[in-house]
Amino acid sequence: MDTKLDPARDDLPLMANTSHMLVKHYVLDLDVDSESRVIEGTIVLFFGDGNRFKTQAVSSQDTIQMESEKDYTFRTTEPCHVPKMDASTFSPQMGYNECAVCGKGDQDAFDNDGNHDNRECDSEISSSKYCCDTGNHGREDFLLVLDCCDLSVLKVEEVDVAAVPGLERFTKAPKLAATPEKLRRDIVRDLVALPADAWREQFDWYARCSQAPGCGELFFDTDSWSLRIRRTGAQTAADFPHAIRIWYKTKPEGQSVTWTSDQDGRPCVYTMGSPINNRALFPCQEPPVAMSTWQATVRAAASFVVLMSGENSAKPTPLREGWMSWHYYVTMPMPASTFTIAVGSWIEVKPKTSPSDELVIEHPLLPAKADFRYAETCSHVEYPCRFQDASAATQEIIPHRVFAPLCLEGACQEALLCLVPPCLSAAHSVLGTHPFSRLDILIVPANFPSLGMARPNKEDTGHVSSSGASVVKHGLNPEKGFMQVHYLKGYFLLRFLARTLGKETYFSFLRKFVHLFHGQLILSQDFLQMLLESIPEDKRLGLTVENIICDWLECSGIPKQALREEQEAEDCKRSGLAGRVGSEVAKWIRLNRRPRKRKRGKPEAAFEKLSPDQIVLLLECLLEQKALSPQTLQRLQQTYRLQEQDAEVRHRWCELVIKHKYTRAYEQVTRFLQEDQAMGVYLYGELMVGEDARQQQLAHRCFELVKEHMDRASAQVVSEMLF
Ligand SMILES: [Zn+2]
Repeated sequence: MDTKLDPARDDLPLMANTSHMLVKHYVLDLDVDSESRVIEGTIVLFFGDGNRFKTQAVSSQDTIQMESEKDYTFRTTEPCHVPKMDASTFSPQMGYNECAVCGKGDQDAFDNDGNHDNRECDSEISSSKYCCDTGNHGREDFLLVLDCCDLSVLKVEEVDVAAVPGLERFTKAPKLAATPEKLRRDIVRDLVALPADAWREQFDWYARCSQAPGCGELFFDTDSWSLRIRRTGAQTAADFPHAIRIWYKTKPEGQSVTWTSDQDGRPCVYTMGSPINNRALFPCQEPPVAMSTWQATVRAAASFVVLMSGENSAKPTPLREGWMSWHYYVTMPMPASTFTIAVGSWIEVKPKTSPSDELVIEHPLLPAKADFRYAETCSHVEYPCRFQDASAATQEIIPHRVFAPLCLEGACQEALLCLVPPCLSAAHSVLGTHPFSRLDILIVPANFPSLGMARPNKEDTGHVSSSGASVVKHGLNPEKGFMQVHYLKGYFLLRFLARTLGKETYFSFLRKFVHLFHGQLILSQDFLQMLLESIPEDKRLGLTVENIICDWLECSGIPKQALREEQEAEDCKRSGLAGRVGSEVAKWIRLNRRPRKRKRGKPEAAFEKLSPDQIVLLLECLLEQKALSPQTLQRLQQTYRLQEQDAEVRHRWCELVIKHKYTRAYEQVTRFLQEDQAMGVYLYGELMVGEDARQQQLAHRCFELVKEHMDRASAQVVSEMLF
């Protein structure tokens, strides 16, 4: 039975006990079935030592054993803490404190605000078949906890890496003396520790190991948020198998992937940065501290394209009839939440022009080339890093591909392809070396929740317990996610800093910062600290890390002073735009007041051509008018071909249509609500507040049409407006 944590409630628990074992590499081998909306296959996890061992020089097996045994049991509430044991008094035969209930979720991860009551969960889990099993030892087995939600786990087994011919040469441990279990662990330990320049060999061995036979099934149990695995007799993380294979299936309703249709009406599936990240796609360690590399082989019907976060531009390999296989890999260790996949019937959009024309496409002039490389070496964990490669470091435009549904091919050729190189160049000039060697851009389906790609799941967003489990505050609150408060705040804070400290100071610092900390997890505080330290004290304008945190992090909303300055900057930009727009607004207002019939022969008011930014401003000014006649609105639409403009323009246009009940354009509102679902949420509110029966009907009809496909958080917010 499931635990009682309600996914609709606010906080997101991260359950993995990363303090004990850390996944170093995942090998995924999956089949995508769009008919049944299921992804099925295996994942092999290769483990290294837990987070807390990272900085220790491990001198002997005993040290590992003692340390991990001391910590392996999940802490319960205060009075039940396992007594700390001194190495000299510790004996392997010593029983554990009976209060240390194995299999228990980390209580202290949940009781911060009383929001989740984990007690029910405790009793259920602890009564499950594993927890009371103490085997013949009178001691509990070590439990590996992985983050996992809405997955059907079919089988878990240890992988017999010793059966891979040639692999045993990696281990320096004496083979004859070792037990088979120890030999397998030693092989994995030495495999994950191979140096970065041997990564090709290492990934090849990972792949071979993932194909090796199993050597013993492991016990497992699942609850709402986790998969718990143990092996009889393995009492510590050090004794636990270091390569395990999990056979599993996703569920169609799992929240990590969205099964939907693209703009051509063809089926597709993608990871959309859901509040629960990837735990309904594969069992993993979610805390960002668990940085791993991965490789994945994904099979799908030949009509599909499989896109993934990966360093290689995968090309499909034909399999049995009608199926293709795609292989991607990533050599830079990253949190499991950054893994993305999208499968659909998309085409790669290529430029219409011939390759020789392509060369003369002009890029905006960049400032004189600075040397972005710094003398310091990389300070992240070892991986084949682009910052150390001079030719990669100076590469302004990395190879990129654009994928889209067929019906949007033309639009992409016209409007998108030419923007990618200058955007990549600009990113390079602001931030320096591109961290990845290539980029795939996908035109996502209409239900993609905008800005939903990542979640704030750094440890400092929640309390981290001794096992490594933690909670992401408000991680599951649909409104919080929808309102993107954290993104908006971050955006305004960075703008505020750039404005206050001066763009030149700010951007040169930013480039240096990225260079120093690429490949590492960084807290906002560290960023602020370093930024201020880079500026002489008399030029910091009274800013301190403490007062920034107090104003921006601990108070709700955006600080008033910053908002005021933001408004001034916006007004300033507008006054630049406004000159021409102002006179156009006046023309429209005059036209709106004029009697319907024009005198014959008198020329119509001529309107200037406006840029999309200017049209947005014009429409915003016209939104302030009390009444606009249907004739004016019709003319407005024809003059600027509003239904063909970008979503920002059409959004303002829909607002005008709703405000003035311009029924002839209701079709365009309907279209907007279907094709631009994340942006359209606000319009549902506008349709409802006017208390106009026809508009409310329109809102209900549109929601009926899209609610099945709509992103869950958006659907929930809209449904609250409607019902
Ligand atoms: Zn580096």
